[in-house]
Amino acid sequence: MSNVDPHELEKFSAAAHRWWDKDSEFRPLHEINPLRLAWLDRLASIRGKRVLDVGCGGGILAEAMATHGAAAVTGIDLGSKALGVARLHALESGLENLDYVEISAEALAAAQPASFDVVTCMEMLEHVPNPASTVQACADLVRPGGWVFFSTINRNPKAFLLAIVGAEYLLKLLPRGTHEYDRFLRPSELAHHVRRVGLELIDSQGLSYNPVTRRYRLAPDTSVNYLIACRKPGR
Ligand code: SAH
Repeated sequence: MSNVDPHELEKFSAAAHRWWDKDSEFRPLHEINPLRLAWLDRLASIRGKRVLDVGCGGGILAEAMATHGAAAVTGIDLGSKALGVARLHALESGLENLDYVEISAEALAAAQPASFDVVTCMEMLEHVPNPASTVQACADLVRPGGWVFFSTINRNPKAFLLAIVGAEYLLKLLPRGTHEYDRFLRPSELAHHVRRVGLELIDSQGLSYNPVTRRYRLAPDTSVNYLIACRKPGR
């Protein structure tokens, strides 16, 4: 298993019991969840679809997609504590179209290629040593004609200032050390990885935070946090 940074997994493991605490460091993920769900559903209409969520953590997005009418949602992660929390929460929510597996995207892609209609991989690429390998795995996992969604953080002085200095040091939205600047990905780099594996880039959105209103919104500005939607050609 090569495309994993044990130090990253440990950071998430230490916080795992707080995944569903909306006042914890996971608050930003809870707050952006309705925005990203509405956006991806508008493009890929997840009702009745087989969906895979890569790097699902405690299941914030996976569970929302299951509630939103996906036929089946599989969440995968390498953090076993997060998966334990996700399974328990799904049980409490009474969701039966949702399951969680501890496996890497690369290993699942080798075992079950082209078996999902929609693959999501949110806020995870900036935590792995080889994001191109994760992008390849996601492309392999989706069926022809299916959709793949990524979100991550741009790499430039403004992103450093807002995503690290602002979010971790000034506003304290995230614990210090959550993100490493060197792992941030420019949209052009992500677009390169995506095209290299034969995915077609369909849409991109920026995610911006207003510290005064404390609200997130989707907007064209991709200079800090951003999301992209891709499609695998064919049908
Ligand atoms: N996608 C979720 C959680 C993002 S947090 C959401 O947006 O709500 C990042 C997650 O990536 C954590 O759960 C962490 O355990 C996971 N992760 C980090 N490296 C990973 C790897 N190599 N393979 C799978 N998951 C990984």
